[in-house]
Amino acid sequence: MLYDLDILPTIMKTSKQIWFNGEFIPWAEAQVHVMTHSLHYGDAVFEGIRVYGGAVFRLDDHLERFFESMKALEMESPYDRAQVYDAILELLRREGTIDGYIRPIAFYGDGGLKVGWEGMPVSVAIGVLPWDGYSSSELKLKVSDVRRFSPEMVKMDAKVSGYYVNSNFAGPNALLLDSEGNVAEAACANIFFVQDGKLFTPSTGSILPGLTRDTVIQIARDEGIEVVEGNIKDLSVFQEAFTTGTATEICLVVEIDNHKYDSREVTSFLQEKYSEIVSGKNQKYKKWLIYVD
Ligand code: PMP
Repeated sequence: MLYDLDILPTIMKTSKQIWFNGEFIPWAEAQVHVMTHSLHYGDAVFEGIRVYGGAVFRLDDHLERFFESMKALEMESPYDRAQVYDAILELLRREGTIDGYIRPIAFYGDGGLKVGWEGMPVSVAIGVLPWDGYSSSELKLKVSDVRRFSPEMVKMDAKVSGYYVNSNFAGPNALLLDSEGNVAEAACANIFFVQDGKLFTPSTGSILPGLTRDTVIQIARDEGIEVVEGNIKDLSVFQEAFTTGTATEICLVVEIDNHKYDSREVTSFLQEKYSEIVSGKNQKYKKWLIYVD
């Protein structure tokens, strides 16, 4: 089973250059000092974005979340959204990447090791990793003893590197509960359940509000499938389950602990729609694709 955490090392060696603080530089030269603030304190923010057949999926929305994540950590980016947008497209052009994974990151750099962010310089880097995805597998998840960070502790809407310690502690097969024992999300993906043709998913609060989650909610509602966002505790009432995430897209979940989910009808339908949309075959959602040219 593959999640964001597992797949990246296998695809990381092949890119030629990195955009780093406004310049395109060779991969090997894109380095930071060991005393980098974010390396010590986990206060970096990043995005994972896919490019499919030369079209970037939901680039504007990813950049919106990237800049909101920076704001959550009081980062003043030296580059505005348009500059990061252009840098991503230019990097894709230079690399000739048609299918791949795009990883922008913003971090606090060499400004000393004091705890706190005042006066700390912000660096921004972008990597583009050629990758044509992986074929969706059937997941078996286990409810983890590790609870998801809660909104009282950190800003959950932000995609912060330090939060992945929470995911790593739980492990790649984990389903994490929130501090009140409701289902939150998988280690690096959101989760949905199906009951009598209706979709159920945890509401925002203790989850990363995933863009794939949002895509699925929009597709489902457009197709007349009811979507309920709320608290989920009892896993025995559902017939079907699946995870959503940029890297792993929509993955069927066949088991969580001793609960077996035999049905796959709604998941297969959504998987098909999703693949139509990202490959540009569905005119209705063309607005989500930015072509590199
Ligand atoms: N939750 C976590 C913790 C994640 O790391 C991810 C992957 N980015 C998701 C949810 C899914 O988010 P998205 O659909 O935006 O990739």
